[in-house]
Amino acid sequence: MSEEQKEEKFKKLTRRELLAGTGGFVAGVAVGSGGISLLLPPKEVEVIKEVEVIKKVEVPVEVIKEVEVPVEVIKEVEVLKEVGAVKEVEISKFVCPYGDGTFSTLGALRVHVDSVHQPTPTSIRESEGRPTYVNKVDRPTYEDFVVGTIEQFDQKNEMFCRSFWDEEYKKVFAASPAREVFDESTEIEGQALMAGAIYVDDKAGSDQPYYYGYNGHKMGFGGLYDWEEPVGEQKFPVSDPAEMSERIKKVAKFYGADLVGICELDQRWVYSKYFDSLSGASGELDIPYKYAIVLVVEMDWEGIRTSPEYEQAAATALGYSNMSEVASSLAKYVRSLGYPAIPCGNDTAQSIPLAIDAGLGELGRHGLLITPEFGPRNRICKVLTDLPLKPDKPIEFRIQKFCESCILCAKSCPVGAIKFGERTTETTSVSNREGLLRWPVDVAKCHAFWKTNTMSLKSCANCIAACPWSDMGIRGEVKYNL
Ligand code: SF4
Ligand code: SF4
Repeated sequence: MSEEQKEEKFKKLTRRELLAGTGGFVAGVAVGSGGISLLLPPKEVEVIKEVEVIKKVEVPVEVIKEVEVPVEVIKEVEVLKEVGAVKEVEISKFVCPYGDGTFSTLGALRVHVDSVHQPTPTSIRESEGRPTYVNKVDRPTYEDFVVGTIEQFDQKNEMFCRSFWDEEYKKVFAASPAREVFDESTEIEGQALMAGAIYVDDKAGSDQPYYYGYNGHKMGFGGLYDWEEPVGEQKFPVSDPAEMSERIKKVAKFYGADLVGICELDQRWVYSKYFDSLSGASGELDIPYKYAIVLVVEMDWEGIRTSPEYEQAAATALGYSNMSEVASSLAKYVRSLGYPAIPCGNDTAQSIPLAIDAGLGELGRHGLLITPEFGPRNRICKVLTDLPLKPDKPIEFRIQKFCESCILCAKSCPVGAIKFGERTTETTSVSNREGLLRWPVDVAKCHAFWKTNTMSLKSCANCIAACPWSDMGIRGEVKYNL
């Protein structure tokens, strides 16, 4: 096979074959092969070499014997290797979330955790439906990696905004080739699926070309994300902020949120300036409110795992539609209680650090929020308010350690936008915040690839699909049974 042929075959494999049909490379191997437990940091792994499984250190012999590798998986691996899509496939085992061992079956891990790591009163969150290995902590786990002054971020430096004003990036984007359309009927149906999924989000904006005041939704619309809705004249008395917080969480879930957390609004995460993509307007942001109610909407796994196809783009788009409904309904509820409320999508403040502060999850190598419930399959929105509330504590569930060993998202990225290796303070562009030791994502490469991947309407979620925490097939069991 010539180099050109290999390249062409690899390109095709990076689509559905690589991430869905073949079992999604490593992530999908887990789903499609009952004999393999998998998906833990590649320190403790077996490596499939040619057609045989060879043993690596740290894994007891008796454990190796329990591993069954289905023939079809081996064949798929061979195809991937042949075209250079993968040098080796790592098949891991169930790792202890407390970091002291690797187990061949989920049952063995469960017995270990139950017997060795008795949950303490502070670590157990059963009443909140979370796994016992999720611990509440006093400060967010990103704080360990803050190495400089954290300045507020100007929204115009966010990647989507840059595509409206950054002339250098516009050239990169223009040079990025569009992928050929393989099949017209697939294209029509896929576009229709997307159109339905994003419909509510599209209609969430007003018909006005420009949104006056601060822009609500990032795209510059008003509508459901409107800041101008009146606050009720009668104020609901809040004597117990903790009780009010519980009520808010129930109401938010009633409106459609899958996860809800509350934090004090850290002004570092509020954008220094807003940027209206439609008009190009920019201006200071002054958010005087004390709390953020952070809302997560799950993105459908069956859709996400097809990345970068239409089903994935539609799952993402539907998340945006759900966000607009949940955030706007909750803001209306708070205003009707007589307190101010700003509903936000991706605008106004950075959602991921707020979600971490609110105890919803941790930051992953791929730069996304990982929650114990959905991994990185989250769409995040928030309501900023002065309603008296009790903030949640941040959580940790060993994601910082996990991502130091696991590189699946970096491997899955078609354009190398996710960093392998160690954390760094270096940035790839103005879109990366300074002052943090982390894995910076080259968002320009990422966004330009979305154009190349026009079949799914300029979208991709390979890194979400490849992340082992996305996979309910594995973590669902861990979540409910450990
Ligand atoms: S970083 Fe961007 S291009 Fe790379 S896998 Fe993730 S979404 Fe796709
Ligand atoms: S974020 Fe990346 S490195 Fe971390 S667990 Fe997910 S796939 Fe692995």
